[in-house]
Amino acid sequence: MARLDTDHTHWGQTFPRTSWFDVRELEHGVHLIGEPGHVNSFLVQGSRSAVLLDTGLGVANIRTVAAELTDKPLLVVNSHYHFDHTGGNRLFEDIAIHRIGGPLLEQAPPDEFAFLYMDYTRGLLEAWGPYKRADDLYFHLVTAERLIRPLPDGFDPKAYRILPSHATRLLEEGDVLDLGGRRLEVLHTPGHSPDCICLIDRENGLLFGGDTVNTGPVYAHTDDANVETFAASLARLSEMRDDLRRVFVCHYLRLENEPALLPEMADGFRRILAGDVELRDNVDCFMVPVKEACFDHFSVFVGSPAGR
Ligand SMILES: [Zn+2]
Repeated sequence: MARLDTDHTHWGQTFPRTSWFDVRELEHGVHLIGEPGHVNSFLVQGSRSAVLLDTGLGVANIRTVAAELTDKPLLVVNSHYHFDHTGGNRLFEDIAIHRIGGPLLEQAPPDEFAFLYMDYTRGLLEAWGPYKRADDLYFHLVTAERLIRPLPDGFDPKAYRILPSHATRLLEEGDVLDLGGRRLEVLHTPGHSPDCICLIDRENGLLFGGDTVNTGPVYAHTDDANVETFAASLARLSEMRDDLRRVFVCHYLRLENEPALLPEMADGFRRILAGDVELRDNVDCFMVPVKEACFDHFSVFVGSPAGR
């Protein structure tokens, strides 16, 4: 559904003009609503109702996109309270989040987060040009769903703010969202943040991993993260590996992963806790210095060698 037509100049760079969202059907009843390079949201439909898992950054109208894909009653479910997953909440009436995330959602994050994230976006767009040119020449890994897009026309990065929102429903471990012919079960998977959930569609073997499962740097270093609980959550998910067919994640350019990633991640976190990993210096998206533990298919940002 990406629209590619005339060239478009943005922050001094030339990009193909595209819509902000990458919208595609991943399988029957499951749509990606991606903001490539930033965050992925997913629309999951049953015969009676639909769930929009996360609302993205809020730089473009995700409600309009969802309304083009479904006319069924829509419940927003936030995988956790972080701004990059809840930025479009203000466009919706019915919002669910894990019980722990309810009060967190109502606190506006510091304005600094918005400024720093827009700085990160500028850096991402500046890096994209040379990256794409190298890919065109040598590597050929960039496919349509991986095209980084300029910020939408009319969007002013300086005016970007992150607004608090109010949950109308609080979720608990084991809650089942019955959409009619499709059931999404809530798994409370704390670690990245205390309120993180995954949604599992057991009948169809689908796991929506939120920020608990990721392939670029997994953020386990922030004040609200906890490496021990993260490790326990991944150990639990890893047990479900054989029941899963597809694992969808929210960040970086690999939006889908083999279920085999789950035991790899569980093992990686075990090794981090045991101090059995090399750590290198890196920075997170806010340019905060971090230590990074690198594995074959993912890496983890941790705050200190012992984790936290
Ligand atoms: Zn997060």
